[in-house]
Amino acid sequence: MSVWRVLRWLMVMIVMSDAIMCLPNTRHQVWRVGSRGSNVVQQLLVAGMLDVLNHSGSSRTVRVPPESLTEVKDALQDAGIPYQVLIHDLAAHLQAADEEGRERRSADNSSCTVSSCPAPLNTHYMTFSQMEWYLRDVNTSSPTRITVSSIGKSVEGRNIWLAHILPSQPSDKAVWLEAGLHAREWISPAVALHLIHHMITNTSATSSVDVFIVPMANPDGYVYTWITDRLWRKNRRVNGGARCDGVDLNRNWDSHFGVGASNNPCSEVYQGPSAFSEPETKALRDAMLKLKDNLELVLALHSYGQDLLYPWGWSTGEEAPGKHDLIAIGQVFTQAVKNATGTEYAVKNAAEGYYVASGATDDWAMEALHTKYVYTLELRDQGRQGFLLEPANILACSEEIWQGITQVIKKINA
Ligand SMILES: [Zn+2]
Repeated sequence: MSVWRVLRWLMVMIVMSDAIMCLPNTRHQVWRVGSRGSNVVQQLLVAGMLDVLNHSGSSRTVRVPPESLTEVKDALQDAGIPYQVLIHDLAAHLQAADEEGRERRSADNSSCTVSSCPAPLNTHYMTFSQMEWYLRDVNTSSPTRITVSSIGKSVEGRNIWLAHILPSQPSDKAVWLEAGLHAREWISPAVALHLIHHMITNTSATSSVDVFIVPMANPDGYVYTWITDRLWRKNRRVNGGARCDGVDLNRNWDSHFGVGASNNPCSEVYQGPSAFSEPETKALRDAMLKLKDNLELVLALHSYGQDLLYPWGWSTGEEAPGKHDLIAIGQVFTQAVKNATGTEYAVKNAAEGYYVASGATDDWAMEALHTKYVYTLELRDQGRQGFLLEPANILACSEEIWQGITQVIKKINA
């Protein structure tokens, strides 16, 4: 073999190994960590050394990148906290488990047509282009039931769409549903799109209330989860001078900004340089402010955990105004869900049930808008599939949430 051929072969090997190394989540591990009461996991999250994948139950599931494996291990051992390695190489695990990924890589994202996507898909998660196609379609075909408008643009210039489902009689009451703020929580926009579909086709449940739904609040992050990293959470802000991208949009609202969040751009809970620094949260805020006096319910759809969380998230010491009503209406929701499909959801305080976190939609809506009923809803499941929830859940999950929301709307307007 000539020297040149050897050199060329070496170059090819280097490029190939680079490509393998660049695969997101390569050599990231997934651990189950005991003692959920410990704040060590929270400190490591804020420091950008791990990502918390599951908050509920008696343990935490965390993703640990290769560069912080030793530090996280030492911190847990020093605190006497047991842990168990569940997945040794997350990238390999995702490749094996990611059926949807294989389909999306071979699919043409813009292939949605009148005949192939007349409604939100039941058996697949929709790409952002497909979501936009559906929203444009209903805006044209059901003008007396819905108006769809853009409330602003994302960091990368994508539209943030707001669907306004029109009541059949004049109303001074409004409901706000936000979905998709965290990119990897795919069940959230899928359910939101089905709720829009339900509300257009079944006019009685929301006949006397204006319903506003943002089905995809973080379109850049969502597109990134389809193309590059299925577990991406934040938006796609390039943080000047930092090696990590993205702001956690659910830590960027102006409510006790910075408490239980991180000022480290590499943290999954990076709050951003200032409250409302991001165009996505600004757009949501401005649209909500216009409805301020009429809003009676704000619901932010996330996943996963099957929990309905009520404020405050920023403090365990302070009690939210109307806490008992929040719990009572929460139980109306969970009972309706259980009656629909048998799925169990729990009503919990956000800070006590999960962890202290500020700058979220729910706390801001309660504090700045004084909306009475404010919740973050963690959808299916309880961790078996987590963010990779199989699309076979879309229909049943949407159905149970539809039943829950209609019962809540009925109850608070009784
Ligand atoms: Zn979330």
